[in-house]
Amino acid sequence: MAGGVGFGRMDIRTSASTAYRSCGTCRMGSDHTAIVDSELRVRVMDSLRIIDASVIPTIPSTNIHAASIMIAEKGSDLLIGKTV
Ligand SMILES: Cc1cc2nc3c(=O)[nH]c(=O)nc-3n(C[C@H](O)[C@H](O)[C@H](O)COP(=O)(O)OP(=O)(O)OC[C@H]3O[C@@H](n4cnc5c(N)ncnc54)[C@H](O)[C@@H]3O)c2cc1C
Repeated sequence: MAGGVGFGRMDIRTSASTAYRSCGTCRMGSDHTAIVDSELRVRVMDSLRIIDASVIPTIPSTNIHAASIMIAEKGSDLLIGKTV
């Protein structure tokens, strides 16, 4: 549905969808609004990492399963202290 005259909140509610790409609820970043840092550590908490699609910073216009696997691989390396 294209935006335009008369396009409103109700139109968004009835037509918007995640399209199975739910992500970004715990965004990774370096600014103060980010939930995890670049090593997936939750800010202001000790010993807690988030390793799933929720850390993807912005919603991509593509499938995110491969990115989720990559995040998991990187996260597991970080957990065991492996540097590549
Ligand atoms: C129908 C569908 C089709 C899709 N098709 C594609 C596709 O073709 N290509 C693609 O790239 N992506 C696809 N995706 C997206 C992709 O599957 C997801 O983005 C990806 O699996 C997200 O990985 P995740 O680890 O973040 O979350 P999930 O895969 O949802 O894993 C979360 C895990 O946490 C567990 N869990 C939840 N709550 C708790 C709790 N309290 N305690 C313990 N465990 C808990 C769940 O059981 C689950 O195993 C699809 C998604 C859906 C829903």
